[in-house]
Amino acid sequence: MTLHSVLGNSEQNSESSVDVENCADMNWDELGFSPVPTDFMYVMKCAKGDEFSQGSLVPYGKIEFSPFATILNYGQGIFEGLKAYRTEDGRILLFRPEENARRMKIGADRLCMPSPSVDQFVTAVKQTAVANKRWVPPLGKGSLYIRPLLMGTGASLDVAPSPEYTLLIYCCPVTNYHKGSLNLKVESKFYRAISGTGGTGGIKSVTNYAPVYAATTAAKADGFSDVLFLDSATGKNIEEVAACNVFVVKGNSICTPETNGAILPGITRKSIIDIALDLGYQVMERAISVEEMLDADEVFCTGTAVVVNSVSSVTYKETRVEFKTGPETLSQKLRKTLVGIQTGCIEDTRGWTIRID
Ligand SMILES: *Cc1c(COP(=O)(O)O)cnc(C)c1O
Repeated sequence: MTLHSVLGNSEQNSESSVDVENCADMNWDELGFSPVPTDFMYVMKCAKGDEFSQGSLVPYGKIEFSPFATILNYGQGIFEGLKAYRTEDGRILLFRPEENARRMKIGADRLCMPSPSVDQFVTAVKQTAVANKRWVPPLGKGSLYIRPLLMGTGASLDVAPSPEYTLLIYCCPVTNYHKGSLNLKVESKFYRAISGTGGTGGIKSVTNYAPVYAATTAAKADGFSDVLFLDSATGKNIEEVAACNVFVVKGNSICTPETNGAILPGITRKSIIDIALDLGYQVMERAISVEEMLDADEVFCTGTAVVVNSVSSVTYKETRVEFKTGPETLSQKLRKTLVGIQTGCIEDTRGWTIRID
């Protein structure tokens, strides 16, 4: 993993600016997207019917709960994902954590769980990041991925809400989720989510992820990077990739499927829409058929893990279509702007970043 591939060739970040003094002693050039144990994690518990009140940092390590826990048996759990970035002068920034807090609350309501308040969530995330500050990679080497988990940890044999809940926040230094641009396969057998507002596709329920493995494992065995899912009602419109949103570009207009209950409302998606509008592009949220996508100039994905990533090809049944990639693409321009804001290299005029050091 080179510096350039991490930051999408952003010139502002040269090797010389890397501040390694305050970082953990590890080879930052070998960072990937896999578990790295850090120093602390955050735990806050709450009984059913109560509100979350007091949490604390504990040493990072194994967690213990009853075999009857509802997260294990019935999937009563949701997660979040956000990143802390180190700036050129060594400050640490969080990107829009209150958005994750609000999304967690919506997911918690759907799964009948109490949720921390926005303030509690943001404070807990900040404490976790600060306590693990030495694991925030130097600028250009990656970021600290923060994973809040809200889960039913009380014992219940009934198919019913848990008597106890735990907010657990842990973190891990990461670089890019995907290496290079993506070759996507359109999945026509399995669906990620139920169409419409009746399902759980719109929340980060832990139950939404293992069901995509059948499709992604088969696609990866065939050399694809990931799978693009279609809507389960008609099988005609694109929805999203297993864990990131999708955009198509044609001329000066950018389209992305509207969040209609089956699509996860990504915070990166929302941020990219705002950045694109500010740059003068037309952005539309609406249904996009596979055919329309195959006719696009450019296709890209967004998500906290992937940031913004170009799609180099999409394969639908027997048809493979290639798209524009590289430094001249709109997706790279959007990526540079977003990463610039996240790392404090570009002025944040929207109040998206929070300084935590
Ligand atoms: C988390 C997630 C995304 C991206 O959301 P961000 O807030 O941008 O990280 C997109 N799709 C799915 C299914 C996800 O779980």
